[in-house]
Amino acid sequence: MEKRKTRFLCQNCGYLSFKWLGRCPQCGEWDSISEEKMKEGVFTRGLSLTPSKPVSIREIERSTLSRYLSGIDEFDRILGGGVVPGSLILVGGEPGIGKSTLLLEIANRLSSPKSVVLYISGEESIEQSKLRATRLGVDSAYLYVSS
Ligand SMILES: [Zn+2]
Repeated sequence: MEKRKTRFLCQNCGYLSFKWLGRCPQCGEWDSISEEKMKEGVFTRGLSLTPSKPVSIREIERSTLSRYLSGIDEFDRILGGGVVPGSLILVGGEPGIGKSTLLLEIANRLSSPKSVVLYISGEESIEQSKLRATRLGVDSAYLYVSS
């Protein structure tokens, strides 16, 4: 059997197909299907990390990183002065402690015409995220939600 090199994934609900579709048959969303290509055994969608050549730590130029401030002082302080663009932050804690609430609030605060934010929940549907957002008064036009 020929191994498939291309697949199509709904960015709204995760529906998987091996042919392109204009409308997702699972969630009904239009133009939500994105092509992903198999590269070295892994499916990727346009983005990929380019490996860099090893450099002596002494040769690396010091740069002043611009950071995004959430406006929640304790959160910004924990991150050393705000969110570094391109960084990955893992937030952990007991169930029900308020991780989703905090992160949705921060995503809302960080979103602006200059920085569109994508909030992806691995546990909640977009409808549940909307309910939470409504409770919090989160309503930015620049905040996108996916599940
Ligand atoms: Zn879908």
